[in-house]
Parts: sequence; C-alpha cells; structure tokens
Amino acid sequence: MEVLRPLKIYFLPFFAQGHLIPLIHLARLVASRGQQVTILTTPSNAQLFDKTLQDDRASGHHIRVHIIKFPSNQVGLPSGIENLVSATDNQTAGKIHMASYLIKQEIEAFLKNNPPDVFIPDIMFTWSESSSKSLGIPRLIFNPISIFDVCMIHAIKTHPEAFDSEEGPYKIPGLPHPLTLPIKPSPGFARITEDLLDGEKDSQGVIVNSFNELDAEYTEYYEKLTGRKVWPIGPTSLMVQQKKVPAAVADDEEEHECLTWLNTKEKDSVLYICFGSQCRLSDEQVLEMATALEASGHQFLWVVHGENEKLQQFEEDMRKQNRGMLIKGWAPQPLILNHPAIGGFVTHCGWNSTVEAISFGVPMITMPGFADQYYNEKLVTEVHGFGVEVGAAEWTISPYDPKKKVVSRELIEKAVKRLMDDGEESKKIRNKAKEMKDKAWKAVHEGGGSHQNLIALIDHLQKKLLPNRAG
Ligand code: UDP
Repeated sequence: MEVLRPLKIYFLPFFAQGHLIPLIHLARLVASRGQQVTILTTPSNAQLFDKTLQDDRASGHHIRVHIIKFPSNQVGLPSGIENLVSATDNQTAGKIHMASYLIKQEIEAFLKNNPPDVFIPDIMFTWSESSSKSLGIPRLIFNPISIFDVCMIHAIKTHPEAFDSEEGPYKIPGLPHPLTLPIKPSPGFARITEDLLDGEKDSQGVIVNSFNELDAEYTEYYEKLTGRKVWPIGPTSLMVQQKKVPAAVADDEEEHECLTWLNTKEKDSVLYICFGSQCRLSDEQVLEMATALEASGHQFLWVVHGENEKLQQFEEDMRKQNRGMLIKGWAPQPLILNHPAIGGFVTHCGWNSTVEAISFGVPMITMPGFADQYYNEKLVTEVHGFGVEVGAAEWTISPYDPKKKVVSRELIEKAVKRLMDDGEESKKIRNKAKEMKDKAWKAVHEGGGSHQNLIALIDHLQKKLLPNRAG
C-alpha cells in the first residue's frame, strides 16, 4: 500500500467562540489522524484552547500554535480583547471584525515563508481567496453555519413572491421540505451570506460541523447550487470525545457548581437556557423570560449576562425554593447538555448549540437571536420535529442590536409547558431527539458517515496534493 507523508495543514479560526470551538475540534481531529497541524491565532484566542492541545501533544499528536499579533492599537481596542465573546456593542464587534482583515498581511507573509500543503481558514476570512490564489496554496473552507441556512437564503432570494403579503407566516417554496417563516427575513443577511459564499470560490471544498442524517438533502442542494464539495464532519464535539481527550474548549470547569446542583435533580427535570456566546437579551426580554419560567413551575438553569436589578429578587426566590440557578458568565455547555437531569434547552439556535443539543438528545425550545439562527429554528422544528418553536418578534442581523419587540411571557410559558409537562406531544418530541442523537453517535463511530468523511477528506487531499509536492 502506498504510504504518503503527513500533510502540513494550517487552520485559521475566526475570533468568535461559535467559530473557534468547532474549528479547533476539527484541527485536533485532523492531527489525531497523523497529520501535521498548525493553528494560526492571536495570543488571547490561543489561551482559550491551549491546555487541550497540551493534552493532545502528550498523546503524541503533532499539533502546534503559531501566534500572530492582534492589531489592538490599529483598531483601538485594549490589549487582550480579541474575541467577539468580549463584545457587548456593535462598535467593539466592528473593531474585532476589522482586526480579522488587518491580520491578512502577517498571515500572507507566514504562508509565503512556510507554505503548507493545505490552508483551512474560517469562512469569515474572505480575503483568503486572493491570498491562496496568489501564493498557489490549496484552500478548504470551514463553514461554521449550517448548509441548511444557505439553502433557505437561496430559496428566499429566488422566490420573492413568497413575501408579497404584509403578514406571515410565509411559505418557502423550492426546498426539500415545506417550510414557513413567521416573519420577513432581513435582506441584509442574505447580502452578507453572498459575500461569504463568494469567498469560498476556488476552494477545494467546504467542511461543516454536521452529519449526513441531519441535513443530507440540503447538502445535495448546496452542492448543486455552488458546485462545491461539502464534507460534513461532526458533531465535532462528539468526535473529539471519541478520541478520549477533553470534550470542549475552555472546559476546565468540570467542578462547576451548576453540575453539582444538577446531580441532585431527577432525569429530564431541568430546563437549560442559554443564548450562545454573543446574544444579549434586552432588560424587557429578560423580565418576560423570568416571569415565564416562574409561572411554568419547572426547574431551570439559566445563563445570564450583565447586571439586571430585576433579576436579583427572582434569583433569590428561585434559589430558596431550590427551583432555579443563574449562571453568570461562561457555562460549561457541553457538560450541561450531557447531564441526565437536563430535559430541555431554550436556545437561540446558534449552529453549534443546535448540534450540541442534538448530540446529547436534548429537545429544544427555539428562540432565534440573530442572523442564521432564524433558519436553524426551522430545521429543528419543521424538518425534524425535535423542538418547540417560540420564534422571534423581529429580525436582527447583529447580536448587539437590541430588539425593540419582545417575545411575550405567555408564549414562552406555553412552549416550556408543552415540552416539560410530559404530555403526549412532549414524549413524541423527546423520542425524535433521542432518535437523532443515536444517528449522531453512529455518525462519529468507526464506519459512521462523519468518521468516514474525515478519513476520506485526508485521503483525498493526500492523493490530490502530495504527488505534486516534494516530500
Ligand atoms: N458556549 C459555552 N458556554 C456559554 C455560551 C456558549 O460553552 O456560556 C459555547 C456553546 O457550547 C457553543 C458556542 O459556545 O459551542 C456557541 O456557539 P453557537 O454557534 O451556538 O452560538 P454563537 O455564540 O455563535 O451565537
């Protein structure tokens, strides 16, 4: 059998948790298959996953970090603010986005002086198209949003007549499933997506954090639409767990008090509420949520950000009744979702959160936050039926634009009861979540789709790229 030398592969994660976490997983998976991996990133971002890589290196994997400078002075940010997780307004987020363009020169110089066999940047680095082309370096794109979103965006764009009426719901034609949107999408997001897709041109294909059973029809649709090959390799958090190394980035919180609290609770009895790494609820929405949770009578674990006076009394009451806990700051989400006491997840439908919930068979209550999340909601509720839809009162593109309208306490309470009251509908939804979890676990095991895709991708790159290069 032909033995080819390992590929030298560079990964470039974007400066946001929802992008960085799955791409680091992917880099680790590729290294675990004997390839020589380098992650290009800035000092503070490196700190988020450094420890996990030390563990990988101790297991003999070739994975290292090349530090590049974060242009703090140029964009006007204090040193150490390098990730959207630290942004609470559009201005700060804009500076971090600006930095992702300004690193181009340093990355190009590094690629030129130390050319890899393959370069795998996040989809956000649209400038990588021209860099790779001019340096003659093959490139694959990592796309951290779902392929389903892109298909929805395309269907919406090609059927403007679907939005003729003032009031929703709007039927979306042309997709593998009959789908509806409750409110009109914002055209701005479609434009952003088109720019991102343009950046994929001339790539060797697109890697996504997904698995065949979750969205195969949409992968096919996307491949026909773009002519680009899609490699579903996920759920990445399950795949890294398979490697018997820690499951998530920044998860040295194994002793987090919320897990100890969950240990005292019965199976499927606690609702987990988290809106991802960027989304912030308005004070009014926080109040609606708290009132709904209280009225539902169910137990909950809620990740909150910022200070909200109105929550203080609520928190105290819930703690006294041993009914609810608030987590302030970063929660160990994969560990929470994997806990048997968790029976539901109120989510903003970020793609990673969605895939993580699926991985652990946790049914969802969907309250999309911004951008692609309005579409992910549809995959969860209308396509697969393992979630209860709450929806959003309005469309926003940025997580920092406060929503003027709120989702009412009544709507949230009703959805919580539909899922957590344990009626017939809830059983059905739970079964569907369990079925998809089983498919996800199959996909990541030996012989499963994602496992095979990872092997096939490396094999494809080695055969395609190495014969032309000196070993
Ligand atoms: N996450 C976490 N703890 C938190 C908030 C988020 O571990 O308190 C992780 C979550 O598990 C997921 C990622 O951050 O892997 C968020 O990505 P997602 O695509 O769901 O949403 P985004 O943050 O991009 O809006």
